[in-house]
Amino acid sequence: MKIRAVFDRFSPYEWEMSPEEIAKVAKIPVGDVIRLDTNTSPFIPEKWLRTLSKDVHKLPVNQYPDTRYTELTRYISRYCGVKDENIIVASGADEAIDIIIKTIVDYDDKVVLSTPSYPMFRIASQIAGGKTINVPRRNSPPFADDVDGIIHTSKENRASAVFLCNPNNPTGTFLEIDQIRRIVEELDCGVVVDEAYFEYCGKTAIKLINEHPNLFIIRTLSKAFSLAGARIAYILANEETANKLNYVRPPNSLSVISIRLGIIALSDVRQVNRWVKYILKERDRCFKALSSMRNVKPYPSVANFILFRLLKGNSEEVYRQLLTKGISIRNLNGVEMLDNCMRVTIGSKKQNNRFLSELKRIVD
Ligand code: PMP
Repeated sequence: MKIRAVFDRFSPYEWEMSPEEIAKVAKIPVGDVIRLDTNTSPFIPEKWLRTLSKDVHKLPVNQYPDTRYTELTRYISRYCGVKDENIIVASGADEAIDIIIKTIVDYDDKVVLSTPSYPMFRIASQIAGGKTINVPRRNSPPFADDVDGIIHTSKENRASAVFLCNPNNPTGTFLEIDQIRRIVEELDCGVVVDEAYFEYCGKTAIKLINEHPNLFIIRTLSKAFSLAGARIAYILANEETANKLNYVRPPNSLSVISIRLGIIALSDVRQVNRWVKYILKERDRCFKALSSMRNVKPYPSVANFILFRLLKGNSEEVYRQLLTKGISIRNLNGVEMLDNCMRVTIGSKKQNNRFLSELKRIVD
């Protein structure tokens, strides 16, 4: 059997360990695993699940979901303050990335990435046959997007797409909206802004979509909405651009159960705001605690995670030692600019305390 040539020299996504695997390494029950490696929320939305369970017996699971996702789209439109026509629903932001790439990136096309960033931009582009070009972030301020470099490189290579992540995973940095405006105005290729962590910083490029048909904004309910397991995301774009995405998107990628849960969640945004407030308070507390450790340098973050560098010791070893305690964080050693760096998701107060005290014991 032939495997496509794009996979001859390809570095795939590194799958996270399952909670069962972590529990086995740590020799603890699965329920005691502390998962701070996927930037998800520590809160299980029990109230929403109770509402869902009251509705679930009536759901028409014998039929495909409404292909237009009419009701869910209406709720997203109210939440974002855009028209229904500006919205494309997707099964997770990863599918959203894929839909955009399949719409605008042809074989051998160039895709510009501001790196380091979310690895799926590179992976999905390469799978489509695109060639990625990295524009490294600046050293000062740490990990700021090199806007001039992005514009210059995109023009020089006649790129068909530029990916920005705002706030950026894994650095936690933010690119001001007027800089995004500059990029979409100076380039005529697609500019994708992944706002998966929008709710933690509150600033968005939404206001630019109507004037700029080359702008795509990606959002997800996997982070602040605590619904990573339900796989609900959406793309916001100019109406004409959104219609083009409809050529590509699969007609039925969300289940009727996820759609219902998404609607319940979007009817209760005040709950999301309370969770966000909790996480931001915890993030600031964790940042201070990490700063006070002699051998740790945390970087300021506007998202629900913190990137930090070990000034002494080795991140591979620290990763392994935390794992033996049932705590999983992301080891980023080997990623460009991130030698000896790790990323920790902000969890519940109890989880954060466990992580902080184990880290202190290992490195300080
Ligand atoms: N974009 C970014 C920047 C992310 O960090 C993630 C998840 N780690 C995703 C997209 C994927 O999110 P989803 O669960 O919606 O597929």
